[in-house]
Amino acid sequence: SSLVIAVDGTSGSGKSSTSRGVAERLGLRYLDTGAMFRAMTWWLLSEGVDVHDVAAVAAASSRPRIESGTDPLAPTITVDGRDVSVEVRSADVNAAVSPVSAVPEVRARLLDLQREAIGDGGIVVEGRDIGSVVWPQAEVKVYLSADPDARAERRAAEEGGADLASTQQSLLERDRIDSGRATAPLTMADGAVHVDSTHLTLDEVIETIVGLATS
Ligand code: C5P
Repeated sequence: SSLVIAVDGTSGSGKSSTSRGVAERLGLRYLDTGAMFRAMTWWLLSEGVDVHDVAAVAAASSRPRIESGTDPLAPTITVDGRDVSVEVRSADVNAAVSPVSAVPEVRARLLDLQREAIGDGGIVVEGRDIGSVVWPQAEVKVYLSADPDARAERRAAEEGGADLASTQQSLLERDRIDSGRATAPLTMADGAVHVDSTHLTLDEVIETIVGLATS
């Protein structure tokens, strides 16, 4: 299959579980582009680079070797061969990933890696700018949203019962930066179908997207 399904949306809208579920159902690969931005951010922090120093981030961003495993049942993210799947979910990375993602050199570097991973297709790709920038020719484009309360609850549960109020605050802060930045702001791509997951179960959201892909 050469099908590309782009799933964009805010943090905690259910993008990851949904995208993996759709990939499994349709026998496609799965790419988590957020994990790539998180891996870059983790590496910068571990190298002691000041993530608010745009020039320093830009200069360093070509150095780490970032690789994504695209099996929806066992996605992986590595930096210079080290698996950082757990590390990239830390509070430090959450707090630093939005400013890092706003640096054009970071986006350009990861864009190349993302297009390389998509290759000949057969993949579900989740992120913020997949349908608008990374792969505007995607056959199916979804914009996934959910109310802030539902998103914070899901993310807190994912993070093993983290505090709800601080989880929501961190989500909303990332949304604010992600939507307001000059480079690739989070917007709904041309031709995207808006799916609001607030009152849907995970299976219902997956069914909706599978329906779009097979109709
Ligand atoms: O999806 P996730 O919450 O893991 O993404 C983490 C951060 O990576 C986002 O808040 C955003 O700043 C950035 N990101 C991005 N473009 C993408 C995917 C993620 O800027 N395609």
